[in-house]
Amino acid sequence: MLKTSLLEVNEIFGPTIQGEGKLVGNPSIFIRFGKCNFKCEGFAVEYETPSGIKKCSCDSYYAVDPAFKDQWHQMSADTIIQEVKKLEPTYKTDIVITGGEPLLYWKHQEFQQLLKYYVNNGYKVTIETNASLTIDFEHKYQKSILFSMSVKLSNSLEPLKKRINEITLKRILKHTQDSYLKFVVSNDFITQAKEEIKVIAQLVPTAQIYLMPMGDSAQEIREHCQSVIAMAIECGYKYCDRLHIRVWDNQRGV
Ligand code: SF4
Repeated sequence: MLKTSLLEVNEIFGPTIQGEGKLVGNPSIFIRFGKCNFKCEGFAVEYETPSGIKKCSCDSYYAVDPAFKDQWHQMSADTIIQEVKKLEPTYKTDIVITGGEPLLYWKHQEFQQLLKYYVNNGYKVTIETNASLTIDFEHKYQKSILFSMSVKLSNSLEPLKKRINEITLKRILKHTQDSYLKFVVSNDFITQAKEEIKVIAQLVPTAQIYLMPMGDSAQEIREHCQSVIAMAIECGYKYCDRLHIRVWDNQRGV
């Protein structure tokens, strides 16, 4: 039984380019959902809540921390589609569904309606997810979605049991064609990352693996990219840059 409540949307923006992952460079419109089941304090992006409390999380903290809930909008699938239409150029861009953790809404009727609309109307849909929640595939349109699974490593400071959901990884890779794993790695985490990713890769040996440098500024990406490229070459993984950060640093809405 699907939930019938409205969806919580943090922001809808674009057209811009997909900045990371397999479809980097593709013109895209982003729908960013509010709420996450993680905090990822290990990513150490410092921020201040609207009431002035200093915290740290990931670079999408405004879509993660309920302290920003006032900036999230309750929306139906139809309203989201109308808002996206206002941004669309004369051609179909990709649709990137991100967060927060968008799979928190997988069991919501409005979320499924949104996915169905875009897939059945010929859009390429990517869901950016931490792949930690268990989901089922019940409909054909769900199998056309590209899942960009950013499985968290111990540098996120999230507990191992929460981070790796073997059932979900296997299920997504079984039911969809091009889905892949990506990991954020920094200079000082290379040795540990090699060990941790090896263990995950053994669970899903056919998965394509991308490595990305940690950082929410162009300078940080520059600092980490060479050692991450070296690791990708050594281990037989793919390197993927974070183009949007290179170009715009951590500016929102581009
Ligand atoms: S899972 Fe993703 S969105 Fe959620 S806190 Fe971690 S990095 Fe941020």
